[in-house]
Amino acid sequence: MTSSKPALTIVLASPRGFCAGVDRAIQIVKQALAENGPPVYVRHEIVHNRYVVEELEAMGAVFVEELDQVPDDGIVVFSAHGVPKSVPNEAKRRRLLFADATCPLVSKVHREVERHHKAGLTVILIGHAGHPEVIGTMGQVPEGSVLLVETVEDVARLEVPDPERLAFSTQTTLSVLDTAGVVAALKERFPRIEGPRNEDICYATTNRQQAVAAIAPGSDLTFVVGAKNSSNSMRLVEVARREGCPRAELIRTAADIDWDSLDGVRRLALSAGASAPEILVDQVIEAARQRFEVTVEEVKLVDENVTFRVPPLPKRRPAQAA
Ligand code: SF4
Repeated sequence: MTSSKPALTIVLASPRGFCAGVDRAIQIVKQALAENGPPVYVRHEIVHNRYVVEELEAMGAVFVEELDQVPDDGIVVFSAHGVPKSVPNEAKRRRLLFADATCPLVSKVHREVERHHKAGLTVILIGHAGHPEVIGTMGQVPEGSVLLVETVEDVARLEVPDPERLAFSTQTTLSVLDTAGVVAALKERFPRIEGPRNEDICYATTNRQQAVAAIAPGSDLTFVVGAKNSSNSMRLVEVARREGCPRAELIRTAADIDWDSLDGVRRLALSAGASAPEILVDQVIEAARQRFEVTVEEVKLVDENVTFRVPPLPKRRPAQAA
């Protein structure tokens, strides 16, 4: 019997989805909840994904934007994106119990910025204004010590105190290609600038961009499962477009898909940002199976075997005897 459903090949990018830093951050919140019981406060979305946030909320996590929303006897976790130094300093001043879920690869950039600042260099940070990671990285050194650029045009406009005393660092989740252009512009304008050999973009961001670049050409459509405020997810959509995929869209879940608009689509490239859980990818495939005769092909570029250890977590102080 032949199927009346149209055929659809879903080409899955690999690697996709959770990275080691996101996995560690979620484990930190879950473990803090398991060891202390609810509530555990989390400053900012632990990772940029509603599904993850709602799952943790159901377990007893309470998400807040600032420390003043955490009671004095609360336990608080800082998100994977990192925080300005003022945040742990304030937590210490208030004697709050806290765990830092900053990704170790973001912490590495923090230390790099601090080192350059201590050496008397002005740091130029390549990143997106307003992103929590950028706020956290700039907040490792006194206000005004880091200059933020996003584009080659920003580099051309940049005014620096001393062109001979400069260093650069980058956000970890940028477009590899765009950042190479900005770094080249910096090196051309300031030949003595110090910095990493290429940039500070992390392994997970790089691998996910390469995997999308491998499957987007030849696909009629690319879906990236992720959130609008997730920098690495947005970059994956850009990579798919740049690689010539006629249509590339970010979707939060399968519910976002306008299935009528898939008329004529025969090959769908599918990936997920570093903060999107695999269950959301499975749901897209499942929803597609209800409408199409689906064949799934996975294109694996590299095996990822990076893991980060969960640090020792704070324990709630025993309630004071009455
Ligand atoms: Fe760490 Fe990279 Fe994951 Fe960000 S995307 S949490 S820097 S591994």
